[in-house]
Formats: sequence, C-alpha cells, structure tokens
Amino acid sequence: MNMKLLLASAAVALSSYGAVAETVGIAMPTKSSSRWISDGESMVEQFKAAGYDTILQYAEDDIPNQLAQIENMITNGVDVLVIAAIDGTTLSSALENAYYADIQVIAYDRLIRDSEYVSYYATFDNFKVGVQQATSLVNGLEERFGDGPYNVELFGGSPDDNNAYFFYDGAMSVLQPLIDDGTINIVSGQMGMDTVGTLRWDGAVAQARMDNLLSAHYTDERVHGVLSPYDGLSIGIISSLKGVGYGSGDLEMPIVTGQDAEIRSIKSMLAGEQYSTVFKDTRELARVTVGMVEALLKGGEPEINDTTTYDNGVKVVPSYLLEPVSVDLSNWEDVIIGSGYYTMDQVQ
Ligand code: BGC
Repeated sequence: MNMKLLLASAAVALSSYGAVAETVGIAMPTKSSSRWISDGESMVEQFKAAGYDTILQYAEDDIPNQLAQIENMITNGVDVLVIAAIDGTTLSSALENAYYADIQVIAYDRLIRDSEYVSYYATFDNFKVGVQQATSLVNGLEERFGDGPYNVELFGGSPDDNNAYFFYDGAMSVLQPLIDDGTINIVSGQMGMDTVGTLRWDGAVAQARMDNLLSAHYTDERVHGVLSPYDGLSIGIISSLKGVGYGSGDLEMPIVTGQDAEIRSIKSMLAGEQYSTVFKDTRELARVTVGMVEALLKGGEPEINDTTTYDNGVKVVPSYLLEPVSVDLSNWEDVIIGSGYYTMDQVQ
C-alpha cells in the first residue's frame, strides 16, 4: 500500500472510530398500556435520527425487574439513562450507581424522587391534566344530566407515581368548590389520594373498587359521573358500570373521564361509553427528551420551561412541561387523526 493510501485508510478508520454512536438506555414501565409503547417507539426513532444507539426495555410494572434492567444498562456502559419509573421512590441507589459510572439521568414523564442525580425532567403539565379531566367531567355532567346535583365517584392514580398527586390536585381544584356548594355529591364519601388511589394504575383494581362502590352506595341512587385519571382505569370502571346495567335502557352511562388517548378508549368514546380522555403527544415528549440528551452529551441548553414545580424531595428538577389536550367527541378527529397520532383504520 502506498503512503497516500495508508494515510487515507487511517483517516477513515479514525473518523469512523470518532463516530461511534453514543448509547441511550431507555427504561419504560410496561407494555400493558399503549402510551408507553408509543413513547418507546418515538424515542428509538428520534434518537436514531439524531445519531444515537438505544437500548429500550420494559419492566411489566415489576419494580425489581426495572431495577435490574437499569443496573444492566449501567454495567453495559450506556451514556445516558432515560427512565419512566414504575415506583418513583425506589431508584435512589440505582441512580447513585449511575452517577459513579458517569451516566446522567433524565426522568421521563414521571418524576424520580429522593435523588440528587436527576439532571432533567421531561413531562406534561400534570396539574393541568387534572384540571382538564375535572372540567370535562363537569361539562359532561351538565350536557348529559342537566342541572345538578350530581352523584360522582373519584379515582386516583398509583400512589407511588408522583404524577398521580398532580392529577388529583388539579382535578380537585375544579371539583372541591362544587362539592362544597352541593353541586357534586361524593355519595361514598371516599376522597383523598390515600383512599381513592389505584396501585400500579391497574384497571382490574379500579373495576373491583367500582363494583364495591356500586353495591355499597348505589342501590337506591344512580351515579352520574366518575373521575378517572387514566384510560386503563376508565375501561375497568365502564365494565363495572355496564355490569349493573348502565348504558342501556333508561340508565344512561355516567360521564367517565380518562387520559392518554389509548386506542381502546377512543373506540369506547366512539361507542358512546367513555366520555373524554386527555391526549399527550408522546412524539413531542420524545423530541424534548432527545434535546435534553444532546445537551447533556454535547453541551448546550436544553429546552426548559419550569424550574419551580418539581421538587423531588432533594432538589427541584429543571423540567420541560408540554401541554396536554382535552379530547372528547367534539374534537377527537381533529386532534388525534389530524395530528397523525393514529390513522382512522386503527380506531375503527
Ligand atoms: C402518566 C400517564 C399514565 C399513567 C399510567 C402516568 O405517570 O403520566 O400518562 O396514564 O402514568 O400509565
């Protein structure tokens, strides 16, 4: 090989060495909910387009499983971790290990609590999600049942998910005044996250609780509305309601809210069962997250629009909050199909 050729091939070797892609470890909670599948797919696609490799893992809502996945990613030398925690309070020691391995961490959608080793938090305006759910509930109650008072039951999300408190507090900022003035009657009297929370966001748990509420409190009364913070719970709640005859004859389906615009729930809305959901564009959340990773690995300023709200118990984590969109039959086609999130075929 002549000298020129040798130098040229050395240069090629060097430049391709320099271009070895950095790897982003992505830990997602579960595939049992379609939103997290969309999150994973969008991130892999967008990280790839930005020149990164990815390792994407789902833990099926099993905390030890997620911890093991994160520890493996650390051992395998990922450059950054993006984590949507199952239980936001159980990751402190994993994050400490990441820190000692020089791996920075982004909390994805759910805040990771009790750790100083969280660089950024990418999420939606979670308080606003709750406000939108409750506003939609109240609008639906007026539309379907005229003037109150209305009988309503409340469901909360998983007590180990920081978001659940924001959703609940946002919703109660709208509902509490109406409870106080008698427009809304919580017939069971069950209120507060410690009473209405639903561990692991499990639809079967919500269905069982709704069964109990109906048999204990609604033999003589009818229920007009149910605040549900997540589509997977809404589907369970609606099954329970249908089981005792709501949605047929003169027993109209109560107003049931939701979140995530999951396909099953869009179909349920089209069938006149679930009343509304909250759309959170996971493609946008992925975009914000890629920007944060770039900032961590290459320097530069990530998109941040909130430096006060998300105190994880150790520090306030700099955050970017995206806007949620309330969706019901009046706007679903514009918002969901119009944005290309689903095709018409997927929801029919
Ligand atoms: C997310 C919601 C989701 C819920 C259940 C929350 O942390 O913010 O979008 O509905 O988890 O998966």
